[in-house]
Amino acid sequence: MPELPEVEAVVRTLRPLVQGQRIRCVHVFHPIAVKPQNASRLADAATERCIQRVDRKGKYVLLALDRGLLTLHFRLDGQLVWFSNGAELLERANVKENGTHVDVAFEFGRGVLGFADRRHFGRVHAWEHLEESAGLSSLGIDALSKDFTAGRFREMLAGSARPLKDFLLDQTRVAGLGNIYSCESLWHARLDPRRRAKSLKPEEARRLHKAIVSVLARALECCLHPAPDFHDSQWWFQGLEKILRAYGREGEACRRCGAAIQRIDQAGRSTYFCRRCQK
Ligand SMILES: [Zn+2]
Repeated sequence: MPELPEVEAVVRTLRPLVQGQRIRCVHVFHPIAVKPQNASRLADAATERCIQRVDRKGKYVLLALDRGLLTLHFRLDGQLVWFSNGAELLERANVKENGTHVDVAFEFGRGVLGFADRRHFGRVHAWEHLEESAGLSSLGIDALSKDFTAGRFREMLAGSARPLKDFLLDQTRVAGLGNIYSCESLWHARLDPRRRAKSLKPEEARRLHKAIVSVLARALECCLHPAPDFHDSQWWFQGLEKILRAYGREGEACRRCGAAIQRIDQAGRSTYFCRRCQK
């Protein structure tokens, strides 16, 4: 599932392709991708609008238009695909033999941007303004932003009795962390994911803040080398597993102390951690 670093890498790659471009035409091949909105709302909002900025907030891609905005959310495996023109899109999109799955496409003068999610969890939405989207307006501090300081983070931790892992997944507190990078941050900070957020001492809170920032920076570097390739519909991020120290390593030796990494269930999600060195 794409988390903050993956979405940031997508945004940086997308920006030079579409920023300043006018959307000539909107194709909605699979209306489920715009639910609970509908295809005509998206087409009405986006057609003939110019993309002024490409931004990210939490795990959302924001396309700010000269009127209103579009949001893309990849959920589990949504992705972007680029076509050189409308003819190529119609030739390849969703055809039976060797076709490319596309749910929604935006046609520009210089190419076509497709949004695709075979499992149809990902969404493309149109909004008049940011506050209209409940998901976006409830987001907390973005973990890559300047506002995410050790001081602010410590205050947030102090106000929560939830286990650390649940706290980190809560997008209304810190936006952008998912299951993978919250497990990784806790491993680097040597903190037990089951501890209550408010039980952290100031030094531990600082350690966790530092771990989050450095884990995300490292993952972003990895996501940009190689950069996303929207021309290849099979493309996905490579090499991230080599930077993982806890996530997905159940039964393998902890890189710090050698004990076996354990997997437990927390709020319905798998948490990976080392019982020996995460206290
Ligand atoms: Zn360990």
